[in-house]
Amino acid sequence: MSQDDPRRHIPRTDALLSLPEVRAAAAALSDGVVRGIVRAVQDRARSGEILPDQVERTVIDAVQNTSPSSLRPVINATGVIIHTNLGRAPLSDAARSAITHAAGYVDVELDLETGTRSRRGAAARAALLAACPAAEDALVVNNGAAALVLATTAYACGREVLISRGEFVEIGAGFRLSDLIESTGAVLREVGTTNRTRIGDYAAMLDSDDRAHPEDSVGAILKVHPSNFRVTGFTAEASIAELAELAHAHGLPLIVDLGSGLLHPDPTLPDEPDVTAALTAGADVVIASGDKLLGGPQAGILLGRADVIATVARHPLARAVRADKLALAAIEATLTGGTTPVARALHTDAAELRGRTEAFARTLAGRLPGAINGFAVVPHNGRTGGGGGAEVPLPGWAISLPESLAPVLRTGYPAVLPRTHDGACIVDLRCVSAAEEPALLDALVAAMDAPAALKTSDTSAHTSDSATGAAP
Ligand SMILES: *Cc1c(COP(=O)(O)O)cnc(C)c1O
Repeated sequence: MSQDDPRRHIPRTDALLSLPEVRAAAAALSDGVVRGIVRAVQDRARSGEILPDQVERTVIDAVQNTSPSSLRPVINATGVIIHTNLGRAPLSDAARSAITHAAGYVDVELDLETGTRSRRGAAARAALLAACPAAEDALVVNNGAAALVLATTAYACGREVLISRGEFVEIGAGFRLSDLIESTGAVLREVGTTNRTRIGDYAAMLDSDDRAHPEDSVGAILKVHPSNFRVTGFTAEASIAELAELAHAHGLPLIVDLGSGLLHPDPTLPDEPDVTAALTAGADVVIASGDKLLGGPQAGILLGRADVIATVARHPLARAVRADKLALAAIEATLTGGTTPVARALHTDAAELRGRTEAFARTLAGRLPGAINGFAVVPHNGRTGGGGGAEVPLPGWAISLPESLAPVLRTGYPAVLPRTHDGACIVDLRCVSAAEEPALLDALVAAMDAPAALKTSDTSAHTSDSATGAAP
């Protein structure tokens, strides 16, 4: 490096680390992270990407904008309520605050009156039983998959679990429930066919001649709700009531994996089975996820007969899949606090969503003087998504924008995930809270000002159209 090479003037690491702004912001970051930032900025100066006298400011900005968790909040403008890639259910205010409170020492396994150990998660259990009186007892574990493995292992390790061929479900990312169940030693015995399975198929399996004592070789009957697909046409399945009668006649438990976590019937999702109905029909234990339609944190919930829950809870595997204190706090608060964002989004009335969307579109147009024709508000169906009732369209409205805005919104601050569909970028407010609206507005204004959006700045692409309910 020559004498007058500007790179000679790049500030040294020690000098950068001792800047007051860097020291203040660095208190919330690990030493390694702060040094990494400093090194990266120095490298940018060495390569000529920034000037040496920009190094200090760049380091300060970078340190101040670095958070210890790199998970970025995303505004969900897709209209899909339970979006697996966005962490499923957003928590209620009550659950968020419960998590903050449970972050320190808490009495999760301690009776403060007596000073002795108490049952872990007793408050979450009580809240579940109050919300679902049809259950005698409840157990919360790490997630739905863990609940299913635990129940089938506790009852059928080394034995068979009878399951309909129509209920071999892959829950996503290549995970199949069948592989999961067999991984701990239960043997799946397929019953019936993909589209039609009758109660007689299960009975024949149990009563076949080579089974002198079916309960010695069979551990449980399992019914799985295919929550992410639908078999239509020439179909048949055995009801929970029929299966319960058959199982109990053979001294077997009926395990029902519902997935979605609806505790009671919901008229918005008429075909979605609920925990109360399954228990009333005779299921011994019902399994659900905490972060689907229940609207809570990731958790697996087992609700059912007291002796079945006790058997499951006693199994050594229960310790390996136990729920975290934060999840227990959030489950309780989800059930005892105010309406969840999931319930609000699910029950959003189409006319109300239209009014809200049109008002939002008008405000947006007001912020963009070039958009003299406003923005099209079009009919758009929301979906529950991966949480159950996946196929049921939820009628609503959304703003239609040029498709090229989608990547700009996704990569902006805050990140916004719209739906791209039919060559358009659809912004659906169903899953956007009122508190998020100002940030969404800013993000949309910024995105339309961004260079990438310029090539489609022709406002005729989103001209108001009264036939589709456009905002003026
Ligand atoms: C979602 C789902 C699962 C898995 O639950 P996780 O909470 O994701 O582990 C299992 N069974 C059914 C029917 C489901 O819908």
